[in-house]
Amino acid sequence: MNENTEHVRCLIIGSGPAGYTAAIYAARADLKPVVYQGMQPGGQLTITTEVDNFPGYPKGIAGPEMMEEFKQQAERFGTQIRFGVVTSVDFKNCPYTVTADDGKTVKAESVIIATGASAKWLGLESEKKFMGMGVSGCATCDGFFYRGKDVAIVGGGDTAAEEATYLAKLCKKVYMIHRRDELRASKAMQHKVFNTPNIEMIWNSVPEEVLGDDSGVTGLRVRNVGTGEKRDLVVHGFFVAIGHKPNTELFPGQLELDEMGYIKTEPGSTRTSMEGIFAAGDVQDHYYRQAITAAGTGCMAAIEAERFLTS
Ligand code: NDP
Repeated sequence: MNENTEHVRCLIIGSGPAGYTAAIYAARADLKPVVYQGMQPGGQLTITTEVDNFPGYPKGIAGPEMMEEFKQQAERFGTQIRFGVVTSVDFKNCPYTVTADDGKTVKAESVIIATGASAKWLGLESEKKFMGMGVSGCATCDGFFYRGKDVAIVGGGDTAAEEATYLAKLCKKVYMIHRRDELRASKAMQHKVFNTPNIEMIWNSVPEEVLGDDSGVTGLRVRNVGTGEKRDLVVHGFFVAIGHKPNTELFPGQLELDEMGYIKTEPGSTRTSMEGIFAAGDVQDHYYRQAITAAGTGCMAAIEAERFLTS
């Protein structure tokens, strides 16, 4: 082994709630875990504002602050946390080979993948500008801030439909903007949307600009894709629900992925198609996508890694 090659018992890729929870458990089980933080240290929560639904924080906590606490807790038990991105993996033979952009090659006896998923965004300049100031990618996380107000959501799939009906319970009015004249969402979800009186569908339309000032979002300009007609909606929140993309670019040909690109795990477990490789959090879950469920599966992955290593 040259000086850039090292042997570790448990390598964790990703540093959201799943990765850090796996690290806390693995470190306490004496697996001496090494974490590669990835592109976005702290994960998706670092781009949200307040987290109010994670148990143990009765007054709420800022997303970045919460992830800093997760990190410190993992470090307290001896986790080595590295600022770096994994660039390739080879899971053909155990110990598995993982290389990172810090020039290191790691031979890992077990690997926990917690690379998460990324929300898809429209790509508007104004969407970026008001991110966390009225623009959100998660109604369950941020809907509460818009109680009694008017909001808009874009998307026509199950996520958009589910989030629109969730928001309709909290908000005065929800404009649901979709680029076609029929929803992609399941018939059951469509039925719910169409039977919610305070959801107004805006068909054949796309958001063109998020309007706002120093206080945050104040409106949304939408354009009808057929007629070109523009309309300004007065809203204080704008939710983007046009899908998520699992961060699995490294794994095709190494692990079994489902048709949407998420890592397949055995039901009720974090075991992947390769022995000794576990997946936790949003990279294997397009359904719940919550910090608490990600943390839960992170814990499961560390326990399963520990049992794999000692069996
Ligand atoms: P989907 O890919 O199913 O839907 C994305 C939606 O966003 C589509 O309506 C699409 O329009 C629209 N869209 C995509 N890109 C753009 C864009 N650039 N501008 C405007 N609109 C855009 O993603 P979901 O997150 O909704 O769902 C992912 C998977 O998870 C699905 O399989 C879904 O069934 C499942 N799911 C299931 C749930 C449940 O069972 N309760 C809840 C949530 C998700 P178009 O239709 O024109 O392509």
